[in-house]
Order: sequence, then C-alpha cells, then structure tokens
Amino acid sequence: MKLNKNKLVVIASILTIVSCNNNKSNDENNSGKNTKQKEIHKVKNIDEALTELKYGNNRFLDNAFINTNYKEQIEATKGGQHPHSFILTCIDSRVPPEIIFDQGIGNIFVSRLAGNIEDDDVLGSMEFAAKVKHTKLFVVLGHSHCGAVKGAIDNAGLEHLTQLTNKIKPAINPQKTYPLEDEVEDIVSRKNVSLTIEQILKNSATLRLMVEENEIKIIGAFYDISNGEVEFFDEKKE
Ligand SMILES: [Zn+2]
Repeated sequence: MKLNKNKLVVIASILTIVSCNNNKSNDENNSGKNTKQKEIHKVKNIDEALTELKYGNNRFLDNAFINTNYKEQIEATKGGQHPHSFILTCIDSRVPPEIIFDQGIGNIFVSRLAGNIEDDDVLGSMEFAAKVKHTKLFVVLGHSHCGAVKGAIDNAGLEHLTQLTNKIKPAINPQKTYPLEDEVEDIVSRKNVSLTIEQILKNSATLRLMVEENEIKIIGAFYDISNGEVEFFDEKKE
C-alpha cells in the first residue's frame, strides 16, 4: 500500500518535472521572461493547492525536489507574488514549510508562532493573503514533540512566554486520561490545531465569510518530525 502510494507520487513528480520543463521550454520559445510568472500561477483553486502541498511533501520524502532553483524563482517573482497557500505553523526549527512542502520561493505565505496559535496580527496577515493576494488554502500545521505544547502542559512561563502557553492550554483536557506520557504532547498538539482553526473562524469575520462562500479553505495538518510526513486532517488514516 505504502509502496504503491510512493510509486504514484514518484510518477506524479516526474510528470510535474516534465510538465515544468515543457512549460519552461515553451515559455522561452514563445514569449520570453514574462511568461515564467505563469508557472507560479499554475495553482488555480483550493483543490489544486491542497494537491500541490501533498505532492510537495511526497517529493520532500522522496528527496525529489523540483523547486530548488532559487535564482530562477527570484527572477520569476520579482514583479509580484501570488502564493496559493498560507501555512501557519510553529517556530520549531525542524518544521520549515518551504522545504517540507518543496515550495521554494513565491508559492506559500508562512506565519510562524510557537505552538501555531493565532493572534490579531496573524489574522491580519491571513486576511491580506485571502483578500488581496487571493490565496486559496490556509493550513494550520502542528507537529509532533512540540516544545510550546509541552510548555503549556508543564505550566512553563517567562516574561512573555506565559501568555503564549496560556493560549495553548485550552487544548489540554483536564478530565481526560491520556495514554503514554510521550503521546500526550501529540494529542494536545492535534487538539491545539483544531482550536486554532476555531479561533480563526471566530475572530475573523472576513475569513469566516470567505470560508462560507467556498472562496478559501482552512484545514489542519500535523507534521511528524521523526519521519517528515505531513498528515492533512481531511485524510482518513490508513
Ligand atoms: Zn512546536
């Protein structure tokens, strides 16, 4: 099952590479530099954005990156940006969105706060992406062994850290009997992703209305730092 999935991904990645190379060739032959921007605009709707992130994570897992020509990407994006997705994730150094989704430069907005929580400034950034840049997909990405979540569980606090970990604490259910101790963080992390999405929808009428009108989608996801896999919460577990 796993093998088949990976084979499919390799095929898809190869097709994408071939497609990109063909596009590049056509662009160069037909109308020169300006058409390079079209490659950046190739994702046109929510489903395509989600597919691109899923394929991108699989390219990362297969070490089959296609978005690493940074000089070309700088050239292609210097006149503007239209990222297809917005990733809100943790500051954890092991969770770099552009790399784990193989998106390079110009394809995704990234907002990072310890524990992937939202605040007014994050919401402002998301509203800018949605309304001004027409970004389609918004992903709240939690991850395994999150230090911020552990801090919330352990009541960690510092001058400004306390108010941050307090925002994660609603994900901890004091009534719940958790299984093994090292599984607690991940269970709370997943719950924290769901609560962050709830808070986004509650606190931004702009984003809520756009979700209701199917103009954008906000989904949760979870990154496993032990193997590099991203699980989207729209997927059924195998
Ligand atoms: Zn974290």
